[in-house]
Amino acid sequence: MTWTSPFARPGRWLKGNLHTHTTQSDGQKSPQEAIAWYRDHHYDFLAITDHWVHTPGSGDGLRAGFILLSGAELHGPGYHMLCLGLSALPPRELDGDPAALARAVRELGGLPYFAHPYWMGQSSADIAPVKEVAGIEVFNSVCEQMVGLGYSRVQWDELLGQGRRLTGLAVDDVHWKHGAQGRGFVMVRTDDASEAGILRALAEGSFYSSTGPAILDLSLATMEDGQPALKVRCSPCETIVFHARGSRGRRIVPEEGRALDGATWPIKEDQVYLRVECHDAAGGVAWTNPLYVSDILS
Ligand SMILES: [Zn+2]
Ligand SMILES: [Zn+2]
Repeated sequence: MTWTSPFARPGRWLKGNLHTHTTQSDGQKSPQEAIAWYRDHHYDFLAITDHWVHTPGSGDGLRAGFILLSGAELHGPGYHMLCLGLSALPPRELDGDPAALARAVRELGGLPYFAHPYWMGQSSADIAPVKEVAGIEVFNSVCEQMVGLGYSRVQWDELLGQGRRLTGLAVDDVHWKHGAQGRGFVMVRTDDASEAGILRALAEGSFYSSTGPAILDLSLATMEDGQPALKVRCSPCETIVFHARGSRGRRIVPEEGRALDGATWPIKEDQVYLRVECHDAAGGVAWTNPLYVSDILS
């Protein structure tokens, strides 16, 4: 396998929220009102993900210039599963077995993700046996707003360090009563601005997640000593953090009084993976998806 940066792919960037509740379950806006809110706030797409309710997507058609991904949030004891692109609900009897449920979601054409692991008290050891999930929510706005349990980066890093290939989503999980809207979003790179194109880009990791900062480029580079490296460029930030296993990553801070707009860090064989977080002065974070070192150095 080789690594292709989302920034090297053809197409354009589309902004979306992947976790939305409406009056179909425990949200306080109708699906139409939810779509209108995100469309009015310059999003390009949305997934409505009510509890055990399947909301169809827009297919290749657009709803008034707006793309809808089919979605549902499923759950059983100890876990919630955000499901995107599924054609129907799987049988609810499977809810006692998250691996079987995730497999059924895959069979229905969907992408399953564990939602808000930190808030659920779900450890990486709980997640590890479920090989079928595409990723986890690294940021969940309502869990952060309500109880300060929104960031699941420890679970993500532990699983990535074990060699698992998982993407990280930032989402609102908006219920329209806690001010969660407009905080966690994904920026997807695709040349196919349709439901299918966005789902494919999500599956391929052709996106980044954010609560504010923009990532402007992510590319391979070479250090002065000839080592391969990962280079990021971003909107003005206070710190840029490279996360890795083995040979560690690094927190990069700017010279006093200046903002960072990029950084470079070497790729080493024992790191397993390297991913970047850009933190801005307002407390916003942008997350790249991981680069798997074996894709670069093998
Ligand atoms: Zn949930
Ligand atoms: Zn939810």
